[in-house]
Parts: sequence; structure tokens; C-alpha cells
Amino acid sequence: MLKIEHLGIAVKELEQSIPLFEQLLNTPCYKTESVASEGVNTAFFQVSESKIELLEATNPDSPIAKFIGKKGEGIHHIAFDVEDIEAEMKRLSALGFELLNSTPKKGADNKLVCFLHPRSSNGVLVELCQEIR
Ligand code: ZN
Repeated sequence: MLKIEHLGIAVKELEQSIPLFEQLLNTPCYKTESVASEGVNTAFFQVSESKIELLEATNPDSPIAKFIGKKGEGIHHIAFDVEDIEAEMKRLSALGFELLNSTPKKGADNKLVCFLHPRSSNGVLVELCQEIR
């Protein structure tokens, strides 16, 4: 793991949360991006070496809609930057961590990503991400 790449925060509406986080972090949102396969719209803020990713559901079946339905808005996942995502997936899987996808998939912000099931990591949804080079 190289560093905390970003924290993902589930929000009901980006339209309200983007200006809120711009004030909070004192930095403009530098990018918004939709990930149709995940049913989310995302918005990114740079905070020194790490980022904040806001996530808004685009449909009621989106994992973000389900999360907010169960837990309300708030911290959704923690993402670690990794050098070699396939090697890291193999390492964690061998240790008994449950991967939510068996091959890396294309995420927002030019990344290959893989999620670990929160039940294998003390309730924390972990995202591994590797920059697409
Ligand atoms: Zn993320």
C-alpha cells in the first residue's frame, strides 16, 4: 500500500455537497465523473497527497443508494493506492480477505479498482486502486 489515495463519502446530492466540501476543504472540486457501471456520479477534491471522493447514486439500485438507505450519508470507503493491483489482490485473497471482484475493474479517476468486502475487514469497505499508466 503506497498511501491513502482517497476517502469515499456517500452523499444524497452532489449539487449540495460540492459547495459544502469546497468550503470545508477550501479547495475547488477539480473533477466530476459518472461511472455508469456502478450507478454513481463522483466529485473529487485534492487534499495534499490524498483526495476526497463524493459519491451520489444515479438510481435506486446503486450501491450508494443502498448504503445511504441503511446508514445515511457519511464515510463509505477508504481507498489505498497500490503499485500492482493484481499482486495485491492475490496477496489479500490468500490471507482470507474477500474480494468483491475477481479481476480489477475500471473505476473513476483513471484507476483500476477492486473492493474488499467489509465483513472481512472490520466493517470497513476497502478499495484498492492503481493508476492506469
Ligand atoms: Zn473510491
